[in-house]
Amino acid sequence: MASINFIAPPAENTTLDSLPVTTLKRVGPRVAELLTKLGIRTVQDVLFHLPLRYQDRTRVASIGALRVGDEVSIVVEVQLSEIKFGRRRMLLVRVADGSGGMLLRFFHFSAQQQAAFVRGARVRCFGEVRSGPGMLEMVHPEYRIIPNNPLGVGRALARHVGLKPDLQSEAIKDGIVQDAPEVDEFLTPVYPATEGVQQNMLRALTQQALDLMRDGALREALPPQVLEQLRLPSLTEALAYVHRPPPDAPLRMLLEGQHPAQQRLAFEELLAHHLSLRLLRNKTEQQRAPQLHVPGVLMRRLLDALSFTLTGAQQRVLGEIIHDLRCDHPMQRLVQGDVGSGKTVVAACAVLHALEAGFQAVVMAPTELLAEQHLQNFTAWLAPLGIEVAWLSGKLTGKAWQAVVERLASGQAAVVVGTHALFQEGVRFANLGLIVVDEQHRFGVHQRLALREKGNQDGRYPHQLIMTATPIPRTLAMTAYADLDSSVIDELPPGRTPVETVVVADTRRADVVERVRNACRAGRQAYWVCTLIEESEMLQCQAATDTALRLAESLPELRVGLIHGRLKSQEKQQIMATFKAGALDLLVATTVIEVGVDVPNASLMIIENAERLGMAQLHQLRGRVGRGTQSSSCVLMYHAPLSADGRTRLAAMRETNDGFEIARRDLALRGPGEVLGTRQSGMLQLHIADLVRDQALIPKIEQAAIILLEHYPERVPALIKRWLGDAARYGEV
Ligand code: ADP
Ligand code: MG
Repeated sequence: MASINFIAPPAENTTLDSLPVTTLKRVGPRVAELLTKLGIRTVQDVLFHLPLRYQDRTRVASIGALRVGDEVSIVVEVQLSEIKFGRRRMLLVRVADGSGGMLLRFFHFSAQQQAAFVRGARVRCFGEVRSGPGMLEMVHPEYRIIPNNPLGVGRALARHVGLKPDLQSEAIKDGIVQDAPEVDEFLTPVYPATEGVQQNMLRALTQQALDLMRDGALREALPPQVLEQLRLPSLTEALAYVHRPPPDAPLRMLLEGQHPAQQRLAFEELLAHHLSLRLLRNKTEQQRAPQLHVPGVLMRRLLDALSFTLTGAQQRVLGEIIHDLRCDHPMQRLVQGDVGSGKTVVAACAVLHALEAGFQAVVMAPTELLAEQHLQNFTAWLAPLGIEVAWLSGKLTGKAWQAVVERLASGQAAVVVGTHALFQEGVRFANLGLIVVDEQHRFGVHQRLALREKGNQDGRYPHQLIMTATPIPRTLAMTAYADLDSSVIDELPPGRTPVETVVVADTRRADVVERVRNACRAGRQAYWVCTLIEESEMLQCQAATDTALRLAESLPELRVGLIHGRLKSQEKQQIMATFKAGALDLLVATTVIEVGVDVPNASLMIIENAERLGMAQLHQLRGRVGRGTQSSSCVLMYHAPLSADGRTRLAAMRETNDGFEIARRDLALRGPGEVLGTRQSGMLQLHIADLVRDQALIPKIEQAAIILLEHYPERVPALIKRWLGDAARYGEV
């Protein structure tokens, strides 16, 4: 690809991160505006706008060897061209290259275009090979008519016949084949594009940026000892390679992101994320928080009143939390614990600790149902201590809402449980000391910070305790949660028996119904969970209602209940209470029961269309059984045929009950974006790194971060900005 540098070289000491993209040829204000949509503002940003994939225009393929789906260049001779009038007018051009024939198909064409395809004309095309009726075809290929020159394919032909690059040049020099500029010198990058900024433009811009880069104006962030140890190319080498790979580049490796040039960039990207969170954490450590120094009388009274004693793991984690609460900077602690490990009671102890010190506490959950469960638990535990628990949800309106908001602002209400509503405009606290967030995986670092900001009073920040039942694999923790301390409740309360899981096709539904009958006859209780892909809550509820009716018909001797998201919160509570009291045998439900529901006597769970749910969700649902002392089982019913992924997921659920193991497999199967949920996608947007593929880099990243912070702190802000761009602002680095 010929490149002429039209731009005046930047001044000696100018670096590309301070050079606006408008210094490049073809970039005026309008294009610059469009480029911001791609996150491109500086020349450096152009270099970090990396190809999604590549096209190979460096060689010419022969038609005889083409396969459907190939994206190739061919050099062909026109045999016949005709316009066909059918439902749609189109131009059909039959071409051949000696190894076979194929068809070019155009729906839009001018008279000149049509005239150019005369019999005998030579054409170079690039496009995707499709299967057509009778023969292979290309639809709207890029093409160029080759001036009449029998050896015009030159270098391409030399490559085509398999000559090594040096022999190619020899052959060209000797005039065996004539050189012609029809083939590219490099693989063609395909970039993420946007309306008004197409591939050609992006290729022209990256070419200009690469020329400038060679002038040595890009800062190397990695210290020499790190580069040496990793045996990875330098930044400029890596960027030059990924933007313009040579013709013999290992394409598969590139597509999978495994090439050392890409690994070098992935390493830097993960490092940037890790560093930004480390800095955030340093900043938190400099912030002030109320020091909660109390003897823990309230907590003691709660623990004495419980019918059980805390497990060793619960005690250890509680100790870690209380240690944090006594410090004068805000706690940022993530508590991970498998479903049923008893996180709630630990959170309640932390809340009491804050209350005893005279501060308010907030408990926030992602769904109404889970928040309601917390309200019940907290009320049951705190009311005997004379503490009233306030409730705030988006469903509260008018006066009721106003009353709660006022009590929070005045400090009359010491503890409040609720949903995201707690986060809303207009909600103020008198003296907030502790925020408990359940099911953290649905929040990103932005929300974490915004929430904490809400409790900011005279420069003092509340402590934050974050609980999740979706364990976070180490790789993810390193990059997405490095600003948090972490505790793990790695022990279940005693007496729990593992849930036995079976996977059956829904053709055996009758057997499953029989199984429910037998279990309930034996005095046990069961859940029957209906799933639907449709987002519509109404359709889901309809499906659950139908299922409940059918089950009640087939199981006339059982008391069948129904719960779904469209019921009023009081109705839901009533049904749960009835089920818990044993007055219902079978509870048909939508996935609303996914979290928080706690009925120890329920020991059988049927999940219909289990193949539609993710592993984390299945694990959550399954966690509703196995809470009592009798052995429990979970029947995952699927509708054939199963996809390969579906099969893997269900098999994994059968094989293990360990939430951490499930999270690990889930991550491998779906990638972090999915595992974290959409709301968090803004938080960890990776350009090139892949947390599953690049796991092996993670330990080295921690080492590199330490070296950088200790010996090269001045390189850190630019490194973060380079990869996180605007997102870097949340760390205010
Ligand atoms: P999760 O970690 O899934 O939120 P919960 O806090 O809902 O778990 O606890 C599950 C159940 O176990 C609750 O009924 C809770 O009261 C009970 N529980 C918690 N800790 C213990 C313990 N140490 N011994 C016995 N039961 C416990
Ligand atoms: Mg819980």
